[in-house]
Amino acid sequence: MKKLNSILFVFFLAIGSLSAQNNMDQVKISVEKVADNVYVLFGSGGNIGLAVGDDYAYMIDDQFAALSDKILAAVKTVTEKPIKYLVNTHWHGDHTGGNENMANAGAIIVAHESVRERMSQSQNANSTFSFKSLPEITFTDELNIHLDEDHMLMVLHVDAAHTDGDSFIYFPESNVIHLGDNFPNGGYPFIDVNSNGDIEGLVKNLNSALFLVNDETKIIPGHGKVSNRAELKAYRDMIDTIRGRVKIQKDAGKSLEEIQSMGLTKEWDEQFGQGFINATRLIESIFKTVD
Ligand SMILES: [Zn+2]
Repeated sequence: MKKLNSILFVFFLAIGSLSAQNNMDQVKISVEKVADNVYVLFGSGGNIGLAVGDDYAYMIDDQFAALSDKILAAVKTVTEKPIKYLVNTHWHGDHTGGNENMANAGAIIVAHESVRERMSQSQNANSTFSFKSLPEITFTDELNIHLDEDHMLMVLHVDAAHTDGDSFIYFPESNVIHLGDNFPNGGYPFIDVNSNGDIEGLVKNLNSALFLVNDETKIIPGHGKVSNRAELKAYRDMIDTIRGRVKIQKDAGKSLEEIQSMGLTKEWDEQFGQGFINATRLIESIFKTVD
């Protein structure tokens, strides 16, 4: 029976990856220009940032390995310059699955040291993603990459929020910022507690982002459409309000199940709670990490 189960398991895994492959076959990569030298690529998985300097191109995140050829073809519609550095906003596979392919294409991978650490741990564990190409350049707080004489890309490590390796990628001269999964536009945030994600860090980081940007800033979210300061502020307000409501009930001694049944997020569930993170999961992650 055990053997049959494991055969069935392998069978279902194969079906699963087959349908994932089929889904990837249907994905189209679209390109949106957000500044003179900065673009966003949409496909399946985290939003990709692309910056073009005088001699090289620079990429932020790379979705899934099965999409790498299409992504590189989409890059070619923007620039013939080779990708010099690829920066990961965090370690999750829907943002880093193409790392190995991009490294093989010549890109040097840059990420926070915790991103490299978590990727190397997942090489041994039973992980959905195995990372063969680890980040070659790591940093602890921040790192500047000079794209050319006039443009810089700032990689800013922020507090543990979505994971403990989160970074914002800021292009000050172009007035563009990529917030990774601290801002999944249109959906509730995933606070990955297993990667030390934390609601307190998320609120703090969203506040920091609001300080950095102005009304003209193009905000690239981890997922969803390109956004702006007003939408980011509304998102911060929602997250901070839900955090406060959960905290009051937790401090009053209510259990997680009781809090989940109170409808504390009901005015936002229709718009934000229909995707990967529903109200129940959001409240659980806040309950576990609220101070
Ligand atoms: Zn993520």
